[in-house]
Amino acid sequence: MGGRIIVVGGGAVGLACAESLAARGAEVQVLERFSHVHELGSHGGHTRVTRRAYHEGSAYVPLVVESEEVWERLEAEQGAGGPGSILVRAGLVEAGSAQDPDLREAIAACEAHGIEHSLLDAAALRERYGLRVPPSWIGCVTPDGGYVRVEPALDGLRRAAQRAGATFRYDARVNELVSGQPELRVLLESGELLTCDQIVIAAGAYLQPLLPTRLRALFAVRRRVLAWSSPAPEAQAQLRDFPVWAVFTDAGMFYGFPYGDDGTRGLKLACHRYTEPGEDRRLSAESVDRRVYPGDLGPLRAFLEDHLPAAVGPWAGSKVCLYNCTPTGDFLIDRHPDDPRIVLAGGLSGHGFKFAPAIGRLVGELLDKGASAEVPAIFRWPHHLAGPSW
Ligand SMILES: Cc1cc2nc3c(=O)[nH]c(=O)nc-3n(C[C@H](O)[C@H](O)[C@H](O)COP(=O)(O)OP(=O)(O)OC[C@H]3O[C@@H](n4cnc5c(N)ncnc54)[C@H](O)[C@@H]3O)c2cc1C
Repeated sequence: MGGRIIVVGGGAVGLACAESLAARGAEVQVLERFSHVHELGSHGGHTRVTRRAYHEGSAYVPLVVESEEVWERLEAEQGAGGPGSILVRAGLVEAGSAQDPDLREAIAACEAHGIEHSLLDAAALRERYGLRVPPSWIGCVTPDGGYVRVEPALDGLRRAAQRAGATFRYDARVNELVSGQPELRVLLESGELLTCDQIVIAAGAYLQPLLPTRLRALFAVRRRVLAWSSPAPEAQAQLRDFPVWAVFTDAGMFYGFPYGDDGTRGLKLACHRYTEPGEDRRLSAESVDRRVYPGDLGPLRAFLEDHLPAAVGPWAGSKVCLYNCTPTGDFLIDRHPDDPRIVLAGGLSGHGFKFAPAIGRLVGELLDKGASAEVPAIFRWPHHLAGPSW
C-alpha cells in the first residue's frame, strides 16, 4: 500500500495505526495537538487494566490476546535501558453476585475461549484478598489478567511506528478535515493546510468536532475520576502483592490496581460505567471540569470501606480523565460514511487502551483491503445505527 496518510491523534490508538499503516508501505504522519503522553486525553493516570475475561462481548477476547502479544513484543524490543515493563501480569480477580450479568458474561468468555480461570466463593475472596462481599457472591480469577503501563506502552508504540517510517508533529492541532477534493486536506489551527490521500481520525475524546453534526450524536464525552488511596503502612505490603481487581456492584464496576502499581503513591481505583443516570450528553473535552470534588471521591471511599477496608486511607491523588462513549459501549472502527478515504477509530467507551495494537491492525486492513477487511461487525456502522441511541 502506498500514499500519504495523516493520522489525527498521537495517543495509543493513533500510534498503533501509524505503525500498522507505515509497515504496510504508506507514508504516515501523526498530528498531535498536545505532546507525546499527556494528561488531557484518555490515557492519563499511569496504568490501564487488561483482561481476557471480557464481559463486554466474546468478540473482544481474541483482540485482547493479540494486543497482549504486541505489548510483550514491544517490551522485549526496548532492550536494556528501556523504561521497563509494559504488560504486568499481576492476575485479575473479579467479584460480584453469582447472578450479576457482567460477571456471568466474564466467566462465559473464559469458558468460550479456553481462558484459564478459577471460581472462588465469598469466604475465599475474603481470606485470599481481604475482599468483603455478601456470602452469595462469587469470584473469578484469571492469572493472565493484569495491567499495561501507559508511558512505556506509548513509548513502545511510537518507537515501532518510527522504525516503520512514520513521522510525528506535536503542538499540531487539526481544526478541520476537508474532503470532496481529489486530495484530502487537513487544516491546522496554525492556518497551515496539509494534503494527503487518506486520513485516520484517532482523536479520543476530542473526536466530535472533527465529524459532521449528524455523526456526533453517536458519541458522548464522559468525565471519570481516578483516585489513589494511601492505605496504612501495615497494609501496603499485602496490597502491593495484589492482583488487579474488579467488583461488580449496582453502582457500577469498581476496579483498581496493586498498591504502587507504577511507582505511584497509592492504590489506584475508579468506577467504570459507560453512562451514569442524568449525565450531561453535551459535555465536551474542551469544556470539561477537570477539578475533583468530594462528591467524586465519596463513592470510591464508600466502596473501599464496604469491600476492601485494608485499602482505606487518605487520598494521595486524584484526576479527571475522559471517556468517549457509544450507547452500546462498542467501539466504532469503520470508514467515514461520507468519504471512504477517511477511517474513524473512536467511541472506545472507557475500555480501549488494552486493544490499541489490535485496533491499529484493523485500521490498517480497512485502508489497505477496503471492503474485504475483516473488522468485527460490532465495530461497524450498521451495528451502531441499529443499536440504541442516547
Ligand atoms: C479513567 C479512565 C480509565 C480507563 N481505564 C481503562 C482500562 O483500565 N483499560 C483499558 O483498556 N482502557 C481504559 N480506559 C480507556 C482508554 O484509556 C482509552 O480508550 C484509550 O486511552 C483511548 O486511546 P486514544 O488513542 O483513542 O485516545 P487518547 O489517548 O486521548 O489519544 C487521542 C489523542 O488525539 C489527540 N487529538 C485530539 N484531537 C486532536 C486534533 N484535533 N488534532 C490533533 N490531535 C488531536 C489528543 O490530544 C490525544 O493525544 C480508561 C479511560 C479512562 C478515562
